[in-house]
Amino acid sequence: MHTVIAIRLTKNNRNAFSYLLGALEKQGFDINEIAIARSFEDLIKTKPKIVLYSFYSTEVWEVKKEIQMLKSKINAIAIAGGYHASAMPRHTLKMGFDIAVVGEGEETLYYLLENLKKNKAINKDLLTIRGLAFNLNGYKFTGFAKVEDFYKYPPFAESIRMVGPIEISRGCPFGCNYCQTPFFKGFRMRHRPIDQIVKHSRYLRDMRYISPNAFAYGSPGAILVLEKLEALLRALQPLRKEGRRLFFGTFPSEVRPEFVIPETLELLLKYADNRKIIIGAQSGDNRILKLMHRLHDVETIKRAVEYSIEYGFTPIVDFIVGTPYEDEESDRNTIELMKWIISKGGKVRAHYFMPLPGTPWALCKPKPLSKEMVRFLGTMARQSKLEGEWVKQIELSNKLHSLIKENYEEATGYYGPIPNRCINDEQTNKNDNQNKNPQKERNN
Ligand code: SF4
Repeated sequence: MHTVIAIRLTKNNRNAFSYLLGALEKQGFDINEIAIARSFEDLIKTKPKIVLYSFYSTEVWEVKKEIQMLKSKINAIAIAGGYHASAMPRHTLKMGFDIAVVGEGEETLYYLLENLKKNKAINKDLLTIRGLAFNLNGYKFTGFAKVEDFYKYPPFAESIRMVGPIEISRGCPFGCNYCQTPFFKGFRMRHRPIDQIVKHSRYLRDMRYISPNAFAYGSPGAILVLEKLEALLRALQPLRKEGRRLFFGTFPSEVRPEFVIPETLELLLKYADNRKIIIGAQSGDNRILKLMHRLHDVETIKRAVEYSIEYGFTPIVDFIVGTPYEDEESDRNTIELMKWIISKGGKVRAHYFMPLPGTPWALCKPKPLSKEMVRFLGTMARQSKLEGEWVKQIELSNKLHSLIKENYEEATGYYGPIPNRCINDEQTNKNDNQNKNPQKERNN
């Protein structure tokens, strides 16, 4: 049988496609007619009529090359989903795609594929499907797609066991200015029910979960609901007794520092196998934390690290360096906090700021690191005391900044237009000067 639809699978979009295949199957789509291509060569060999991509903004250069090569070889309708397609649909079409899926794609993709299988080309009926951008007598956008109760779809398909970490929660109320999650998944956290998580965890040897903040399971997001969290962890124990290991609050999830308290750590000791915990700290400077809209301070990070060590966990603490409003003093404060964490026996990971489309900081210019920061990160990395891709990310971040500036489009998110905190570089500089005022905050 000739393959009509093919997925271009990569290590970065594997989870997204396992959820989408689960959702397609649940809605009655025969997913056996979808080929899964793990390389571009395999994709071409399948000679599909419809190809599905999902990618991040950091991948646009490679994806653009692929899609242009694909178009020169076969005549297929190219569909893109993921954060980049959602945040920059016009740019996604410019890259060579025919259709961008904007928002949560589980249902949009089902209706889109059903339509294209029948019509075999972009047609006016697509205007009735929410969550699409395409050109048909001019640019058309049918609105942001939401799947409020995402858990009505399983995390992977029954007939193709492409299993991986299960998404247990979606959305985040904190609204950090650099993060896409709240703007594309909403400010209220939604959760997959416990029985479903247990049912699908049976397919995993190492039970791992995806959540913006794993300890917030069962809550609207900003508060801890200990009973719900414990109920989930308790329900997974029979699977653990069968030999599976349970990882929680660690890769591929992390936890916010104010949720790292004796009560949550005791639950991990009792119910989970990991003795490492990943904490999102992001900065060691209160002014920067405030500008990021993190809604916690440096003291809270220190307390989380101390509790972790006290309870026998190794805290792995994430930082973002090079954010738009850094100065020498904020860099110094972050260095001090990193040093303190390392001295306590914790680990530090440094990431360079990535301006992401669809976030309030999309147009903000990454700040060069102070000499002191460069020296410190280099020394710590050489001594294996610090991890992170910050060196590689500097170049990528600057490329991304130029791309967003040149192709800027106002993104539509879960609640409509996404606010923009840096209209252009001049504004960034102006804000920088204005942010001399936060100096006052320090002195107060
Ligand atoms: S960085 Fe984490 S806490 Fe902040 S908005 Fe994103 S997911 Fe939520």
